[in-house]
Amino acid sequence: MSTKKEPGYCVECSAVATSEALFKVSGVIMLRKYCNKCLPDAEYDAR
Ligand SMILES: [Zn+2]
Repeated sequence: MSTKKEPGYCVECSAVATSEALFKVSGVIMLRKYCNKCLPDAEYDAR
């Protein structure tokens, strides 16, 4: 077992994620991970 936090993968392109973004949707906090490339375009798809 490891307590080390895994970086995870970008939700957009499956590259190794470097950043996490929080989105509040209907009172629920959603955490999504992005790489450098996708982060500027990161938006939760809800209108
Ligand atoms: Zn990406």
